[in-house]
Amino acid sequence: MFKNEPLTDFTIESNRAIYRAALDKINDQIHRAALSAKPIIDGREIPTSTIINSTDPSDPTIIVGTIHNADLKLTEEALSTLNRGAEKWRLVSFEKRALIIKRAAQIMRNQKAELNALITRESGKPWQEADGDTAEAIDFCEYYAEEMLRLGVPQKMGNTPGEENLYFYQPRGVGVVISPWNFPLAIACGMVVAGLVTGNAVALKPSEQTAIIAHRLVRIFLEAGIPGDVIALIPGRGSVVGAHMVKSPVVDFICFTGSQEVGLDIIKTAATIEPGQRNVKKVVAEMGGKNATIIDEDADLDEAIKGVLFAAFGYAGQKCSACSRAIIIGNIYETFIERLCHAASDLICGPAKEASTFLPPVIDIASQKRLLDQINRASSELKLAFKGEVPAVGNFVPATIFRDVPASHWLWQEELFGPVLACCRAKDFGEALQLANNSAYALTGAVFSRSPANLNRARLEFRVGNLYINRKQTGALVYRQPFGGFKMSGVGSKAGGPDYLVQFMEPRTITENTMRKGFAPS
Ligand code: NAD
Repeated sequence: MFKNEPLTDFTIESNRAIYRAALDKINDQIHRAALSAKPIIDGREIPTSTIINSTDPSDPTIIVGTIHNADLKLTEEALSTLNRGAEKWRLVSFEKRALIIKRAAQIMRNQKAELNALITRESGKPWQEADGDTAEAIDFCEYYAEEMLRLGVPQKMGNTPGEENLYFYQPRGVGVVISPWNFPLAIACGMVVAGLVTGNAVALKPSEQTAIIAHRLVRIFLEAGIPGDVIALIPGRGSVVGAHMVKSPVVDFICFTGSQEVGLDIIKTAATIEPGQRNVKKVVAEMGGKNATIIDEDADLDEAIKGVLFAAFGYAGQKCSACSRAIIIGNIYETFIERLCHAASDLICGPAKEASTFLPPVIDIASQKRLLDQINRASSELKLAFKGEVPAVGNFVPATIFRDVPASHWLWQEELFGPVLACCRAKDFGEALQLANNSAYALTGAVFSRSPANLNRARLEFRVGNLYINRKQTGALVYRQPFGGFKMSGVGSKAGGPDYLVQFMEPRTITENTMRKGFAPS
């Protein structure tokens, strides 16, 4: 029976001491330049000559580790190794595959503090967020292993005497997983595990910004018992090695999480049949969001303010589920904005490794520059309600709130992926729903209301993949809140839900006439 991995309680001093010790250990490795991400092919680490640095978002002058980018030749070598490995792996029983994945979960559990600390340093996640990332990775392993035990058993279909019909799943073959940096362990892990446990061989192309964590993940799978020719790590530029793998005729499926622009490009490329290609490529693509929270006139404002604050500014708004639009109904508008801005001024902005930090830096200097430019541009076009303070060193972007934002404005429509919130007033619940649905995306949404009639309307008319009622819209847990959107937020079934694994397999049916007259001796 699946159970979510408990989160670490950092109010307990001994837990804080463990985290500090893990941070010290990672810090020591960073200072000794001991961390790197080299391509891993057939279980071997392969150094390359194109080396880039992975830096600490809290202080980008610090190099967390070096990334050895794979070239196209190495990428080809990895895919042909996986192509061979896939033929053996598909014959390994689903029970054994599930067991190996559960072993990987246990290794992560044993290394939790160290993985958390690495996430804090490479992706700039504060303690609680990093801990959530590792817990989610463990959950994906445990849940998908359990799911495979359910799905692996062939089902008998129909009920006709003299005939036996078996319905079962087979793996697709070779898959490419392309992951983002914002859940550097959990999302990469979830997509890779889904591919492996269903019997496929998988190449992981991690995000450029968090390849050290991805490297650690692949090492864990190898240690757990995944054969070397069944998993590969291919660090490199997305537009180079990622795009190349998407095109490859050896690849049978692509599992992607990232921006809408790249996701749509992958869908288009994968639809073009290459010579020698054996399957129509399956694409699972989880993309962006421009998520709204509706605050009804009768909402509990203490809860609503807390919910919006956490969902908008947690991990500096760099979650696909983050709240980037708040729609406030009727007369509470001024009070809500005033109280929200007041509460935002109390958020502690600082380096991710400080236990007290709530608002960390953004992932890299390019994101920081883009977001600061967007905030400047929006400030000249809209009413700025709040802008926080930030430390001088680090890729920091201030928590920023704009008010009276029209639905036609780019700030209402575009995903910024940073700590920027657009607010507007709606005259009634109907208008609030219209404003919320006025988006190309449909990922998450939240409603704070005490009106059963309005909540029912929201259930029917607030069309998003994950709707949260009287709670914040971030923090989906595996199995409890299967996660994913539709419209331009993605194609594919929800991660951490009962339909997810089926996407990585092909169903087959075998029908046997059992009215036999005896078998010939062999
Ligand atoms: P991104 O699209 O820039 O990069 C994602 C991955 O795609 C990276 O590994 C990158 O190297 C690779 N890539 C880039 N160009 C490529 C190409 N041409 N071909 C193949 N691969 C390529 O996204 P990001 O900045 O890493 O992540 C942020 C985005 O991810 C946001 O839009 C966010 O909403 C989205 N996201 C969505 C979910 C979800 O579940 N829906 C979860 C997390 C993040």
